[in-house]
Amino acid sequence: MSKLVSVHFVLLSLLAVSSVSLSPLWGQQVDKISVLLIDGQNNHNWKVTTPLIQQILEGCGRFNVDVATAPGRGESLESFSPEFSKYQVVVSNYNGQEWSEATKKAFEIFVAGGGGFVSVHAADNSFPRWDAYNRMIGLGGWGGRSEKDGPYVRWKEEQQRFTRDLSPGRGGTHGKRVPFLVVIRDSEHPITAGLPKTFMQTADELYGKLRGPAENMHVLATGFSAPATGGTGEHEPLLMTVQFGEGRVFHTTLGHDNNAMKGMAFQVTLQRGVEWAATGSVKQPAINGTILTSDVAAIRDPVDGGPDDFKAIPDVTSEGWVTLFNGKDLTGWSQKNGTATYRVENGTIVGKTAEGSPNSFMCTTRDYGNFELTFEVNDDPGLNSGVQIRSLSKADFNNGRVHGPQVEIECAPGESGYIYSEGTGRGWITKQQPVKDAYQNGKWNRFVVRANGDRIQTWVNGVPIADIVDTESSKSGFIGLQVHGIKRNLGPFEVRWRDIRVRELK
Ligand code: ZN
Repeated sequence: MSKLVSVHFVLLSLLAVSSVSLSPLWGQQVDKISVLLIDGQNNHNWKVTTPLIQQILEGCGRFNVDVATAPGRGESLESFSPEFSKYQVVVSNYNGQEWSEATKKAFEIFVAGGGGFVSVHAADNSFPRWDAYNRMIGLGGWGGRSEKDGPYVRWKEEQQRFTRDLSPGRGGTHGKRVPFLVVIRDSEHPITAGLPKTFMQTADELYGKLRGPAENMHVLATGFSAPATGGTGEHEPLLMTVQFGEGRVFHTTLGHDNNAMKGMAFQVTLQRGVEWAATGSVKQPAINGTILTSDVAAIRDPVDGGPDDFKAIPDVTSEGWVTLFNGKDLTGWSQKNGTATYRVENGTIVGKTAEGSPNSFMCTTRDYGNFELTFEVNDDPGLNSGVQIRSLSKADFNNGRVHGPQVEIECAPGESGYIYSEGTGRGWITKQQPVKDAYQNGKWNRFVVRANGDRIQTWVNGVPIADIVDTESSKSGFIGLQVHGIKRNLGPFEVRWRDIRVRELK
């Protein structure tokens, strides 16, 4: 986190009431981002889409969402005055009558003062005559918008750049609802970093001909509005950021209805955009092209994401877990490779470095394929460690060298929770590593792992860290506790594990 962002974050924290909440799973504090979601009027079915937006945000574990519902069309909006300053970010699912002057002013002050704002789909149809709002969203559509409101902004493929077109014409159109390719135009931005360059959104409205001031606006992604399906023939902006005073705005034109919101393209970019608008950075795990696919649109029901979904972090307090360590001795375990020592002390396994030793592993004597795994670990600063999963040791592979996916353990800031391919030369399997501080130094840290088929997911202290598809590694093997080799004249260091449990999946 840059210094600038840190200062900014402190200011925001002063503005916003602390949103720290207790995780129900193991009582540890997880900082969640406070979100206010606004609805109440929309030419779209906000009663259906608001709960979906809420579920998409809360389901990824990063957000607490409150909803503020404005009075319905035709009613007085004088009573509608949400306390914007209680939140880090406001998400609008609202397209309707003007708010009161006081509420509009309060909203402008909130965003200009450093609050986050996210405009979803038809929220950019709203408020055609509210100047500050149009500067926040950058581009808008319908409501009488025309050349008087600003240019069209389009990506020109032949010039490889964005152009601003001030020619006369209406603002706002869309063709038929079809699946389309989201093309990332800036992969460096925190919202898009770690996402594939292109991925499909499921059938949705692709907004075109949006017009607006487009000041301090940065287009992150475009979509081709195909003439064959009633589109403009232009590469239209889909995802944008706007700087408004001190505030960060994320604008997504995706998300027409409940069907469109099942698209992972909508969900992932919304989750990342809301986090960025709130904090200026994105700590959610990168999503690769195996999950966010470019050939057909990846679909995930936000209400029932299924057992593979990130929202379904395995509940370590529920039933079905089997203890791998009895707390007394190393029954069920055997050491492979190096000469680091492992002892049992006060219900913990303590691994201690040995000078001159290669990496050592205390391994389960049986193999596990698809499973959930949890343990607590407390690692000395300076000692690299990890837990092998689905790992192998074969006489015909580097003289029994332990190899396979390793869930990294390391003091913060570090790579804890990311997946390293131990002993194979592949290096990191998780290439993108946005979160470096989920691990708490000097404390017991709860790790949770799910390995199911090709997919491996990890959480450290409730924070999602890795979500990868790994087709190369073995799908079954032992679980192993690593004590890394150390350089001469360093150490000795120790690493401690306890409460090691597994729950096998079918
Ligand atoms: Zn729509």
